[in-house]
Amino acid sequence: MAEGDSVRRLAARLDGALAGHDVVAAQFWRGGFEGGRLLTVAPVGKHLLMRFTSGQTVHSHLRMQGSWRIHRPGWRPGPATDQVRAWFDFGPAGVLAAHAMPVLEVLPTAREDQVVGHLGPDILADQWPQQRPTAVTAITAAPDRRIREALLDQRNVCGIGNLWAVEGLFIAGVWPHTPAGDVDADRVLELIGRMMRLGLRNGTQSTTGDLRRGRTHWVYGRYRRPCRRCATPVAFVPAGDGPYDRETWWCPFCQPAPV
Ligand SMILES: [Zn+2]
Repeated sequence: MAEGDSVRRLAARLDGALAGHDVVAAQFWRGGFEGGRLLTVAPVGKHLLMRFTSGQTVHSHLRMQGSWRIHRPGWRPGPATDQVRAWFDFGPAGVLAAHAMPVLEVLPTAREDQVVGHLGPDILADQWPQQRPTAVTAITAAPDRRIREALLDQRNVCGIGNLWAVEGLFIAGVWPHTPAGDVDADRVLELIGRMMRLGLRNGTQSTTGDLRRGRTHWVYGRYRRPCRRCATPVAFVPAGDGPYDRETWWCPFCQPAPV
């Protein structure tokens, strides 16, 4: 899942393997890529920015289906790999290819704001503790909006995916449909941030601390199954029309609706 934590792990992996290496050949589906040496791979929320010495940045967003893969040196896409929209040959370090990438573009590094400037503070960035009040202000600025949607709107805070929002609201004991204005958003954000950092450090998306199969989550994906805390059947609502109206699970007892 391309949540902020998995994008951050991917960025660290690509950076470790390829930063400092020159692109010796490349194919970019829209053209305009000038080559150069890879300086860094930086995550911003769920976006990935690869910066090159040419002054260009390759911007990508994996959404649900995209992936970056490092193939062996000299690799080229064949007929069976037609999902490749771009590849970058880093010589002995291997060939980096974008598979089924829904968002992929090259732009001047100086203009990265065009693609990430609209984002709120990154929940996994080092500056997050100082920036959290900005995210709280943004969330409470629309007090009637459901908290589960406000948490997923990347303009308020970036990097939180549905998994972390659903599980964070369970741990906070907050009914996911509560109007944002009635929620202690600072506490919820602090909690989700702590949980995501722990996950990032441990390389897992378990929110229960249990790594066994089928036990990694409290309510996410557990419709009608007993709540792990109180045994009440987990409730569910499918995704709606809005861009942040994602499928949601909650425990009606541990996360009661206001009376
Ligand atoms: Zn419960």
